[in-house]
Amino acid sequence: MSARFEYLVTGGAGFIGSHLCEKLISTGKSVCVLDNLSTGHLRNIENLLSLESFHFVEGSVLSADTVNDCVSKCNEVIHLAAAVGVENVINKPVETIETNVNGTENILRAARLNNTKVLIASTSEVYGKSWEVPFQEDGDIVLGATSRNRWSYACSKALDEFLALAYSSSYDLPVVVCRFFNTVGPRQSGRYGMVLPRFINQALTQQPITVFGNGTQTRCFSLVSEVIDSVLALLDTPEALGKVINIGSTDEITILELARRVREISGSSSEIVKIPYSEAYPKGFEDMQRRVPDVSRLLGLTGSSPQADIDTIIRQIIENGIPEGAL
Ligand code: UDP
Repeated sequence: MSARFEYLVTGGAGFIGSHLCEKLISTGKSVCVLDNLSTGHLRNIENLLSLESFHFVEGSVLSADTVNDCVSKCNEVIHLAAAVGVENVINKPVETIETNVNGTENILRAARLNNTKVLIASTSEVYGKSWEVPFQEDGDIVLGATSRNRWSYACSKALDEFLALAYSSSYDLPVVVCRFFNTVGPRQSGRYGMVLPRFINQALTQQPITVFGNGTQTRCFSLVSEVIDSVLALLDTPEALGKVINIGSTDEITILELARRVREISGSSSEIVKIPYSEAYPKGFEDMQRRVPDVSRLLGLTGSSPQADIDTIIRQIIENGIPEGAL
């Protein structure tokens, strides 16, 4: 790879990454993607592969040499590569921790060498079991015991955040940290546990819609295209540097109501069934009861936040179809 690119997108063949690449390319930007195709897929970026303004590197963020090479050829870095989904986190704990911690460390080191602006993707998982809804970026995070490996994901992303902020304060590296709340949309697979593609797939194939627990737990779902708009706006906002910023919708819905909306909008006759957590997850799993972002920081910095309502989101996903093997 000899050309220079405006953006490096790690995890660019994944769900969020591929939408981001499409958006960047459609606005005339040049993009290099680094992805190891562990959960991402070439089919997500197949329309981009032959373009001159697009370059794909199959490789891991765990390789410091590969990361250095890619970062040195790009003006800005959007670091999305990470372990994805509750199922991976539970079944592959070592990979989860190492990818999230060492991968981000490699990115930050390379960015420092090249003085490159970096956006680090984090997650609302870092709020853990906090009850202080809506979650504010400076609020306490409440994680469970280390014997419950579900929390390793939140802890690893929290460490990424600490490291990113430390690079910002110690080395003046231009860094933005974004905490994504449940981001959904066309092309997302349910294979790794994500609730909305699973529900839609179940509804469309007339299978039972599986609500885990009693369904009173809540989430706020935001449309991937709007999340990307926020990401790009933040990258262009100097006041965002050195800050952690929530990105999400504030439209809170219970998982049971989500199942009902999916069933109604898809015109499905699927039954909604409640599966006890003890059957849905390995022993000792703890779910989060409520997860709502405070988006005042995002609004203050960019003037907008994800707005699409859940019915619009569900319709858009149904229109575009769920990828094969979604369950
Ligand atoms: N969930 C569910 N049925 C499923 C998959 C997930 O009821 O088939 C629930 C899950 O227990 C959680 C919520 O949906 O309460 C969101 O799960 P997801 O894994 O999509 O994201 P999370 O917000 O937990 O990271």
